[in-house]
Amino acid sequence: MSPLSGASAPLATNTLHSLTPDALLDRLAASGLRGRGGGWFEAARKWRAVRVEGGEPIVIANGAEGEPGSYKDRFVMLRRPDDVIAGLVLAARAVGAREAVVFLKGSFDRPAAALSRAIATARLDGLSVEVRRGDDGYVTGEETAVLEALEGRKPWPRPKPPLPAAVGLRGRPTLVQNVETLARVASALADPQAYRSGETALVTVWGDVRRPGVHEVPLGTALRGVIDEHAGGATEPVGLVFPGGPAGMPLRPSDLDLPLDPESLRAKGTALGTGAILVVGESACPLAVAASVAGFFEREHCSQCPPCAVGTASLARILRAIESGGSRPRDLRDLSDVAGFMSGHGYCAHCRTAAAVATGMARGFADAVEAHLGGGCPWPERRHPDPFAPGSPERAAVEAAVQEQLR
Ligand code: SF4
Repeated sequence: MSPLSGASAPLATNTLHSLTPDALLDRLAASGLRGRGGGWFEAARKWRAVRVEGGEPIVIANGAEGEPGSYKDRFVMLRRPDDVIAGLVLAARAVGAREAVVFLKGSFDRPAAALSRAIATARLDGLSVEVRRGDDGYVTGEETAVLEALEGRKPWPRPKPPLPAAVGLRGRPTLVQNVETLARVASALADPQAYRSGETALVTVWGDVRRPGVHEVPLGTALRGVIDEHAGGATEPVGLVFPGGPAGMPLRPSDLDLPLDPESLRAKGTALGTGAILVVGESACPLAVAASVAGFFEREHCSQCPPCAVGTASLARILRAIESGGSRPRDLRDLSDVAGFMSGHGYCAHCRTAAAVATGMARGFADAVEAHLGGGCPWPERRHPDPFAPGSPERAAVEAAVQEQLR
């Protein structure tokens, strides 16, 4: 069963609209649908948390995709806008909302047009839906930053608790749900058991692969199979694979038989996140890739938490210095001190994740770090890519490939 490619639906959409909120929540729980915004949190628990608050809840479809290399949400919004809106209407019915907002990045003109058309023709059951746009910043997609943006303030994450389920948009209980998750809702509710047994992941494979782009793969497919069968294989022997963008530790070639599912990757100390799978060939210097990760965190913080603003800049400076030969003897100790100072801080996960990934990579590539100390890259033949930088060749290639897929 392929929830995004037209599954058979034992319960027709019309029937779903006549179910009670409790019946919808029970079916959603039975399907096991998990959120696809990066956390893989069980959707039914999130919906129930909003419903029990009562009051006047609101539902937000979060389409502010911003993970470098990830295009799967834009893919869904352009290919399946009707499914996104159908899921939004059913979510609103389940939590008791009469208002909904679709929130997008400012540059997402085509998704905005596609979703507006879908809203115009959808069965809304009295739900009021508006499409709103924010800026293009990475952190703008964080769910409480979305709330701030919609309230007219800087799109900065809020301290938690309270969670949006209790105190969300304009103080009301709010369900913020990723657009891909919503696109799966009707299918999951129509046949919960079939959905559960045939669950897929929509991933964007990019970097050193022959066929970058968005691919729908059965959950549990070996990472090697995703790369070889769906993305056309690597263009050179694999050096590293980031299974979920820069917010998780990279895997080694020896890990390629791991199944692609959130639990297996978590057990391995990394994360599936939004499934932006970056493949890096072995001709790339791992220190350059670590510096690219650190540069991403430095560039994309929102600056409101000093440990994050100062710490991400320090991590990036130290890793760049090690990569280029300008390191000092105390740099490794500083790296660990800075990460210690950052961990446990910040209003969102950016600060903690930056610390964990930067130091994790330095530890995981201790031999490479040692070889670089004081003298820069000891492998003159290796490439020094910066894949996470805006406009990098890797990002440009996957963007072009997805545009082609969407033609
Ligand atoms: S942790 Fe970083 S990105 Fe998150 S709110 Fe604080 S400064 Fe912004």
